[in-house]
Amino acid sequence: MAKLEAERKPLIAGNWKLNLDHLQSIAFVQKLAWSLKDARFDFSKVEVAIFPPFTDLRSVQSLIAADKFELTFGAQDVSAHDSGAFTGEISGQFLSALDCRYVIVGHSERRSFHFESNDLVGLKASAAIRNGLIPVICVGETAEDLETRGASAVPVEQLDTALAEVPSGSEIVVAYEPVWAIGSGQAASPEQAETVAGLLREVIASRLGSDCANATRILYGGSVKSGNIASFMREENIDGALVGGASLIIDEFVKIARFQNHVGV
Ligand code: PEP
Repeated sequence: MAKLEAERKPLIAGNWKLNLDHLQSIAFVQKLAWSLKDARFDFSKVEVAIFPPFTDLRSVQSLIAADKFELTFGAQDVSAHDSGAFTGEISGQFLSALDCRYVIVGHSERRSFHFESNDLVGLKASAAIRNGLIPVICVGETAEDLETRGASAVPVEQLDTALAEVPSGSEIVVAYEPVWAIGSGQAASPEQAETVAGLLREVIASRLGSDCANATRILYGGSVKSGNIASFMREENIDGALVGGASLIIDEFVKIARFQNHVGV
C-alpha cells in the first residue's frame, strides 16, 4: 500500500546517545520546543520524538507534561527482564511509568559495544511491547556486510529474528541504519535505503501480518542532516529518520523535522 494511503505519520526521532545530563536536558527541551513553536511546526503532520539518557527521563517527562509540549520521548535501551536480580538493567515497567512512548532496541552501538545478539534484541522488543512501549528496532549492515552480502541480507536477518517472538499486529517502528553511515558523514543513497526498507516491510508482513506492515513506520538513520532528509522522505517506504549527531543541534534538528517545507517533498 502506498505511503499516503497507509497514513503512516512521519516520525523524526533524535537519539541523544550519551550526551546532556538532566539539567542540560531541561534547557535543551525548552529551546527545542520553542524553536518548533516559532517555526509554526505542525505536530499533527509530523511526530518529533527525543531519546535522552535514562537519567534525564524524569526531568524530560515532568517538563513536557507541565508545559504541554507536543514532543514525544523514549529511552535508548530496555532490559529483556521486568524485575529481579539484574544489576544495572532498566525495566520496561519503569519506562512505562515515566510515560515513555518508545524505546530503542538493537542500536548498532549496543550490538557492537555490548555484544547484543539478534535473539536478545528480540527479547528486548518483546519486553517493550508487553510493557506498553513501542520498540524502535534498529537493524543495519556493516561496511564488510555490504561488501560481502549486499545491503539487505543482514538487516533482513536481524529483523526476522527480532520479530520471532513479537505478537502479530504489535505496534513497532523499524530503523534501517547502515552501520557504516552512522556518525560517518556518509549517508546511504535514498535508493539503497528504499530497497532495504521495502524488504524490511515484507519481513514485517510475514511475521506480523500485512495490516501491521502497512501501518509500521520504517525510519532511515545514518548521517541524516537538513540537506539530505528530503531525499529520503520522498521514498515510498521511508517514513522518518533516526537522527544522532544532528539531533543535538537544535536549529538543524528543527530543519530536519520541517522536511515538508523543503522543496519538492
Ligand atoms: C544513530 O546513532 O542512530 C545515528 C543515526 O547517528 P548519526 O545521525 O550521527 O549518523
